Amino acid sequence: MQSNEAPRAGHCQVCGRLIEVRNDIVTPHEFELAGWLLGECPGSGHIPMEHGRGRAESIVKLMQLECSRMRTSIAAYRAGVSHPELVEHPDCPPGLTPAVVAWCELHPEAQQEVLRSEIERMEAECEAGEQHVTKLRRLVHETSIAAYQRRGERRKVAGTLP
Ligand SMILES: [Zn+2]
Repeated sequence: MQSNEAPRAGHCQVCGRLIEVRNDIVTPHEFELAGWLLGECPGSGHIPMEHGRGRAESIVKLMQLECSRMRTSIAAYRAGVSHPELVEHPDCPPGLTPAVVAWCELHPEAQQEVLRSEIERMEAECEAGEQHVTKLRRLVHETSIAAYQRRGERRKVAGTLP
């Protein structure tokens, strides 16, 4: 019975961390990546990198696309040729859900403030996203198929599955 096997760990294809694997499936776990993900990791319930990389490769592609879209927006905002259409009202008291207002309804000073904070937010998200992409690509490259690690073991175990 596979369910009686000793706990093994494999790399989650989404967060890239070493997570317990049961019956060749990554067990449920949480993951937070600022601006990208919060809560149950979408890699839960899928095969680990030791069994396949399709999901990791899709995540890398999606994140690269999103980062380049954000970089384009940042450049356009900086150059003053674009701005968000709808923004959260900057004067909303803390604790309340901010009202969404049209860009043109904001005072020019408020527009500049909103632009600054949007650029800051996107830069932080791009940085976090690009770091994660680098980590996942390295793992995809380094992780051997069918090279599980025992829980707590540091060295990679080469060879076939037990
Ligand atoms: Zn994960």
